[in-house]
Amino acid sequence: MINRKISLNKGTYKQPNIFGYYGNFGGAYIPEMLHRNVEELKDRYIDIMYEESFQKEFHALLKDYVGRPSPLYLTERLSAQYKTKIFLKREDLNHTGAHKINNAIGQVLLAQRLGKKRIIAETGAGQHGVATATVCALKGIECVVYMGVKDIERQAPNVARMKMLGATVVPAMSGSQTLKDATNEAIRDWINNPVDTHYVIGSVVGPHPYPDMVARFQSVISEEMKSQLKEQTGNELPTKIIACVGGGSNAAGAFYHFLDDLNVELIAVEAAGLGVDTGHSAATTKLGKPGVLHGSKSLVMQTEDGQVVEPHSISAGLDYPGIGPLHAHLFESGRAKFLSATDDEAVQAAFELTKLEGIIPALESAHALAALKQIHFKQNDVTVLCLSGRGDKDLSTYMKRME
Ligand SMILES: *Cc1c(COP(=O)(O)O)cnc(C)c1O
Repeated sequence: MINRKISLNKGTYKQPNIFGYYGNFGGAYIPEMLHRNVEELKDRYIDIMYEESFQKEFHALLKDYVGRPSPLYLTERLSAQYKTKIFLKREDLNHTGAHKINNAIGQVLLAQRLGKKRIIAETGAGQHGVATATVCALKGIECVVYMGVKDIERQAPNVARMKMLGATVVPAMSGSQTLKDATNEAIRDWINNPVDTHYVIGSVVGPHPYPDMVARFQSVISEEMKSQLKEQTGNELPTKIIACVGGGSNAAGAFYHFLDDLNVELIAVEAAGLGVDTGHSAATTKLGKPGVLHGSKSLVMQTEDGQVVEPHSISAGLDYPGIGPLHAHLFESGRAKFLSATDDEAVQAAFELTKLEGIIPALESAHALAALKQIHFKQNDVTVLCLSGRGDKDLSTYMKRME
């Protein structure tokens, strides 16, 4: 069971302090008009999440709807390739194909208990939008997803999925017509509908309490890893855990129950895009400076005068100019090591996993796989790599790279 105490000081790795800070990062930087919504959530999320009836419904859905526990699979040929033991935590086998459904279920159940009748979300590539629309269909709740016009054009299959699931997809026309603008529209909606609407954020980003709440919902990943490792290796602690980081929710979930086990090496992998120094990258810890993005203080890719820089990654899920405050703290404190992989390295790693194990990974997860080449393994190391999603959505990108 998760420790419910929230410390008053600078927070721990697992939990922010009462103001939502992990070390120097976090907080709730929001317009006055959102105070009421965010305060309500902050005052009630912990109590609701740990109610017996909530836990029962959440875990029943994770089991029978999502298909959890997701397997912890010991690779044979991939392990041989790197002369070590590599387990894959198979989030790719979840319903809707990635880890995002864990958080979407948690937040929609929470919204129902807050008496909300309507769900809004923003989405870039559409993965979070699809997960949210899925749970809203399941629960018969109205769902509105904001999405940049450009992303609507680029991600037609996910737009079709959301519509089939009954969601209204609203195009965000302003600015660069991508995720940032969709977020602005969603916030505007929430300001105008404070009483009946819950805003489902899809990663460990946003104002406090979102990063903590999302990390707790995703922490089921590491909770399962512990007992699966114990069963399969006799020791619940691995040597290393590797996960890709966009906003950081699959990594937060995979790290969570090991954060205080300082012997477990935590490795986060960011998207380097065309290369860290090319101006077309999303490697936030390499390029970012402290700043405020989407309601919290964290590391942000920005110009000298504080304008957010447009990121680039081949993988839509990692194409984000910030990281969650927990990860900024893990980076600054040295608790986690941050690596990066380029577009090309990720694609190559996806082909490698497919060839060696018959598993086509999501492009996001392929960044974590690409980092295997940068890590020194001992033969007896036990490494768990979080395979955050499956590659069906990325087939057209893979096919273009096939020759
Ligand atoms: C969205 C997504 C990510 C990135 O989001 P995080 O919050 O960093 O986990 C990674 N992998 C997949 C498959 C995704 O869909």
